[in-house]
Amino acid sequence: RDGDEPAMLETAPVGPRAFDFSTMPQHKQLRMMAAAAELSGIANPFFHVHEGRAGATTLCGNRTLLNFASYNYLGLNGHPEVSAAAKAAIDRYGTTVSASRLVAGERPIHHELEMALARLHGTEDAVVFVSGHATNVSTIGHLMGPKDLILCDALSHNSIVEGTRMSGATRLMFAHNDLDALEEHLTRTRSRHERCLIVVEGLYSMDGDMPDLKRLVNIKRRHDAWLMVDEAHSAGVLGAHGRGLAEEQGVDPNEIEIWMGTLSKSFAAAGGYIAGSHALIEILKAGAPGFVFSVGFPPALAGAAIKSIELLEREPWRAQKIRTNAKLFLELCREAGLDTGTAINAAVVPVIIGDSTSAVMCANRLYEAGVNVLPIIFPAVPEKQARLRFFITAEHDEAQIRETVAIVDREIRQMRTEMPAWKRLAG
Ligand code: PMP
Repeated sequence: RDGDEPAMLETAPVGPRAFDFSTMPQHKQLRMMAAAAELSGIANPFFHVHEGRAGATTLCGNRTLLNFASYNYLGLNGHPEVSAAAKAAIDRYGTTVSASRLVAGERPIHHELEMALARLHGTEDAVVFVSGHATNVSTIGHLMGPKDLILCDALSHNSIVEGTRMSGATRLMFAHNDLDALEEHLTRTRSRHERCLIVVEGLYSMDGDMPDLKRLVNIKRRHDAWLMVDEAHSAGVLGAHGRGLAEEQGVDPNEIEIWMGTLSKSFAAAGGYIAGSHALIEILKAGAPGFVFSVGFPPALAGAAIKSIELLEREPWRAQKIRTNAKLFLELCREAGLDTGTAINAAVVPVIIGDSTSAVMCANRLYEAGVNVLPIIFPAVPEKQARLRFFITAEHDEAQIRETVAIVDREIRQMRTEMPAWKRLAG
């Protein structure tokens, strides 16, 4: 076959620009959007360059901005002990384990991290994946099959939706946090399927609200379903000790079959994990494609995550400070008449602006005024619900929160007084 290849290359007809990505509809659409933005003078709010560690503040160009665009919830990215642990792991193991754990073998640091995660969630066992996104895709995709039913919240993260696609199971979405709608779906369709999985998030990344876990446990028991909770934004954040949604709502974590989390947010690293029973973890380690066919967890990130979990346990004030900061942020926003939707006082607080163009323009104004916050626009949220999304961390202080809300309030008022002019421009 090797011998054939050069001949095939020489004789194969080359279609006109067949390999030119710039002819793809997606690329044409991107160019049109860029041209429209340029015409109306709207800068791209995404991909700003940060010159150093982005914490409560961040250096962009030569300006230090108040930063609300990093989900460094516990403020541990760059913590001296976390960085030292990452460096020590590199010194011992190098920068990679160089193959899947099935092939290249285990490192003690993998076991240590998985035991720390199981301890955090109060489960028997845990397994780490190199990406949070791949954790959901692989776990849901591997556990469920075409005869099964998956019910997920309408605001589920893309990785959950992709996991349901990979599984081939029937997928039903219920309106956000509407557990009556979930029950209706179950009553109507549960009996037609073999296994059933309900997937929710501990803290929703668009609205900053949480589901009713006690009721979910009751529902899944009655309908013979498994319950999976994605704690990407709630691990390290909810509960008096940052143990997540179960601690927050006083539920026994072992009532929930699958705890999922990421290491990229509270735990100053990257990657994802599943915590649950020994049997569940064994099944995933033997077959989940994102584990079996992907490189083992990088030592430096394992070192950083282990130290972050240890710091969360040693310094519970960090989880509590997120809540105090968020409570103040929410109170100030509400006093100013800003729309924060259904957000609770936790790490994610949206300020709903309206249409996508307004949200982008508002984020750009704030950037110029010294606040780095990103807009969330259609199709991530409905067009009339475009918003600014603030990530509140333990590293922010009271003065920064007060200053930020004052700037946001001022800029939004100013923008609204200029509305007719810019609306014409944005056309
Ligand atoms: N689940 C949720 C709810 C998320 O918000 C995200 C990403 N922010 C992920 C999973 C994927 O995690 P990661 O970015 O660590 O891959």
